[in-house]
Amino acid sequence: MTNFELTDKLKKNRRLEDHEYAQLLTTLAEKEAEYLYKSAAETAVSVYGKDVYIRGLIEISNYCRNDCYYCGIRRSNRCAERYRLTKEQILECCRRGYELGFRTFVLQGGEDGHFTDRLICDIVSSIKRQHPDCAVTLSLGEKTRASYQAYFDAGADRYLLRHETADPEHYAMLHPEELSCENRKRCLYDLKDIGYQVGCGIMVGSPFQTTEHIIEDLKFMKEFEPHMVGIGPFIPHKDTPFRDKPPGTLKDTLHLLAIIRLMLPNVLLPATTALGTIDLLGREKGIAAGANVIMPNLSPMEAKKKYILYNGKISTGDEAAEAVQNLKKRVSDIGYRVIQARGDHISV
Ligand code: SAH
Repeated sequence: MTNFELTDKLKKNRRLEDHEYAQLLTTLAEKEAEYLYKSAAETAVSVYGKDVYIRGLIEISNYCRNDCYYCGIRRSNRCAERYRLTKEQILECCRRGYELGFRTFVLQGGEDGHFTDRLICDIVSSIKRQHPDCAVTLSLGEKTRASYQAYFDAGADRYLLRHETADPEHYAMLHPEELSCENRKRCLYDLKDIGYQVGCGIMVGSPFQTTEHIIEDLKFMKEFEPHMVGIGPFIPHKDTPFRDKPPGTLKDTLHLLAIIRLMLPNVLLPATTALGTIDLLGREKGIAAGANVIMPNLSPMEAKKKYILYNGKISTGDEAAEAVQNLKKRVSDIGYRVIQARGDHISV
């Protein structure tokens, strides 16, 4: 089959055979890639229209008990300047974000013991009290089912937890022994079972990643049926063991965004900050390949400068208000519009 036919087949059946995924991932000529992106963008428009949802990202802490080899805020990085936000600071970010039109707040951070379940529940319920029309998304790593349940009962709506790779051996190459692929997946299934809208995802071009791994990731996504998928290129951080590993590419990320959109037509799919970091127009290109979410940073300036997962992260100096104005213009320049809404998953 040609790559045009494979794209049509994926659009129709929402899945492909392994060797067909491999062909689509590795042999696309320029015209074929354009057709794949266009098909994916049309699919997104058929479900969500030309609306792009924005999520206000608040980076609450860069303390982390984990030691993931790729991540700039890993515990053994002595060069990272650590910080954590207070509840008041987080609520202040939400107030500012609300004025700017955000109706989803994403609280992301390292696994920081200072943020006990009680504190997290208190923060979540305070946000929901002050902004009942907003969704709260958490991205705070691996917890027990009881903890996830407590946050949900406190009002959290969504949870982002990239599975990073669906292959246990590859997982072990990216993480120290105490972390396992199995537990990561257990967390995802617990979250879904509790009733969250759940996001999984991977870094594109992470060290040692093969095409076979990516195919496994796609099949895991198909089976898990997440509401959201977060993917962005791996970008090395100078103070990690992967400092000399090559970054993931724009092309591979766009291919994968488009394939994921065709596979899961209703998925909420962000054009990530990492994508905007490896290419100045990365996020626009992501939308043109099927993405429909952007997550601008609402963290206070000091936090933004210290929450460094990888080098070269964009917008570390922007004021949130300015960044949103900019973004609205850039999105409308490509024929889409930024929407002031919670932007929940459309489940059909
Ligand atoms: N502690 C939370 C949040 C992690 S940061 C958790 O465990 O989910 C969010 C995501 O950033 C990670 O899941 C990872 O996929 C991505 N990330 C980390 N380091 C990165 C790097 N060097 N390049 C690109 N993405 C990275």
